[in-house]
Amino acid sequence: MSDRDELLQIVRQAKEHVAWLERGNVIGVPRSQTQTQTQTQTQTQTRTQSQTQTRPPASSDSGAVGLKTIRDELGDCQRCKLAGKRTNIVYGVGNPDAPLVFVGEAPGADEDRTGEPFVGAAGQLLTKMIEAMGLGREDVYICNILKCRPPGNRNPEPDEIEQCEPFLKKQLAAIRPRMIVALGKFAAQCLLRSDAPISRLRGTWKAYEGIPLMPTYHPAFLLRTPSAKRDVWADLQEVMRELDRLGIARKPK
Ligand code: URA
Repeated sequence: MSDRDELLQIVRQAKEHVAWLERGNVIGVPRSQTQTQTQTQTQTQTRTQSQTQTRPPASSDSGAVGLKTIRDELGDCQRCKLAGKRTNIVYGVGNPDAPLVFVGEAPGADEDRTGEPFVGAAGQLLTKMIEAMGLGREDVYICNILKCRPPGNRNPEPDEIEQCEPFLKKQLAAIRPRMIVALGKFAAQCLLRSDAPISRLRGTWKAYEGIPLMPTYHPAFLLRTPSAKRDVWADLQEVMRELDRLGIARKPK
């Protein structure tokens, strides 16, 4: 991507974020300078107000009901060539109202067999990462760009992404997370409409439809390259800071 395109993308994402805040009736952001106790209290109240306001309002299409409707629409999906090869559709798992969603690439053999995302070796590492953040798999939502396993774990192909992504978009709209973590190159590039390498995308906040998104390395990459765990932990610490700032509970470590 050229510098100009990248700049245009940043401007578009900033506009989307402001529009999202406005939809939640946010008319200002809390100040966070040196403060007296009264200022701190006011600030905390303002934060709590903006917190509840910034999430788009729940509707009959959101949360568990919304996710069930989307799953019904997906049905016994035959929309792409992966259908004939799969054992199970891997829809997504976790809290239907999760403040935080992890999006991976595509199911592997273990996920295809069980129908649940991130249960193999990479999934076990992801579970440890989530727990290290003071959360559990049941607190967050976990899903993938593709819902069916590409044969031999090959990369997702454009026609498969084109058919599957609308369902992911609907799932994210139903969950209305406060933030998203994109795991690996495919998830980050797909959600951000970017072709920048994950090494460049990771570690700074981006936005997906106005929702803050943190790209980081995929846990499968970490299994091959343990030295990258330090970068991922730094990225997840950013996410934890933001969860804490929004007052979203985590278990103390
Ligand atoms: N890798 C992914 O990207 N997703 C899974 O569900 C499992 C492995």
